[in-house]
Amino acid sequence: MAVLNVLPSSCAFVMPSTFPKISFEFFPPKTEKAEAAFWPAVHELAALKPEFMTVTYGAGGSTKDKTIETASRMVRETGLPIAAHLTYINTLIADLDAIEKQLLAGGIRHIIALRGDLPPDISWPLEIDKNYYQSTSEFVHALKRKFGFEISVAAYPEKHPDAPSLDADIQALKLKCDAGADRALTQFFFDNDVYYRFLDECAAAGIATPICPGLVPIHDFDALVKFAAKCQASVPVWLHEKFARVKNDSEGAKNLAIEVLTDQAMDLAKNGVRHIHFYTLNKSAITTEAIHALKAA
Ligand code: FAD
Repeated sequence: MAVLNVLPSSCAFVMPSTFPKISFEFFPPKTEKAEAAFWPAVHELAALKPEFMTVTYGAGGSTKDKTIETASRMVRETGLPIAAHLTYINTLIADLDAIEKQLLAGGIRHIIALRGDLPPDISWPLEIDKNYYQSTSEFVHALKRKFGFEISVAAYPEKHPDAPSLDADIQALKLKCDAGADRALTQFFFDNDVYYRFLDECAAAGIATPICPGLVPIHDFDALVKFAAKCQASVPVWLHEKFARVKNDSEGAKNLAIEVLTDQAMDLAKNGVRHIHFYTLNKSAITTEAIHALKAA
């Protein structure tokens, strides 16, 4: 079983005693229609009193302005701590500085600090250039030193696709934690034992930073399977079998998604996990139902 005493006070229990802290990820809505559905979802999930909510950053800065604008409006409208995701790959340090200042002006004090996917013309390790960050740990260190941001980083219980091995990936995570990350948020997974083993391995590697599990509600199983393949996150056979049984039944699929998310979160809570991060995909219903069920348990 996992060595859960690696989770320090930032993931401390709240009432009731087995109920973990929660946080929610959103992405900036792309169309007017998406925007119209976005704000009600934000407010519904904000009412569940998350620890914080986050707004993603499009690959290569494609959503830069929209991320800043959405996150700043979420600060104003919800009064909750809001974090902005930010990637440093292929972006000048001077340009990142300007974005960080805009985020601060918008009331954002927490950054999900990421490298971002490597564009096809850039290979790892990066060519040395003092105008660019060379690693996520350097980025984390600078964000802390310059502006004292709260920092979350990414972790991959099933290994990042670029990493040569899980051990190498854990060493890369350790560098980010040693640079001052306050917590790691994991890639989504469906087999909790994978996460528990990952926690044990991180603890053995000397990582004492909280590693909060990231769970995804299944709104569209086929789309999820495609996305998971890209991230190299496994979708267990039992999950394929369950969703095959509700293939042409949207109500059945929704109920199954609530059951799967609730069961997964419940098992994590029972095993002492103190903070669960939800990838909401900008939809509130399944996540809300699962959290109500978790609270009632
Ligand atoms: P890193 O942890 O820096 O590195 C990834 C891999 O590179 C490591 O696992 C390791 O194999 C290798 N590596 C890194 N540093 C070293 C080192 N010093 N020595 C040896 N090897 C090293 N992407 C977006 O574009 N926008 C988002 O908003 C976004 N949000 C995300 C949120 C979460 C919670 C997660 C889990 C991922 C998110 N991503 C996002 C995806 C992420 O940008 C990609 O997975 C990217 O390829 C890696 O970014 P990272 O910060 O995890 O990388």
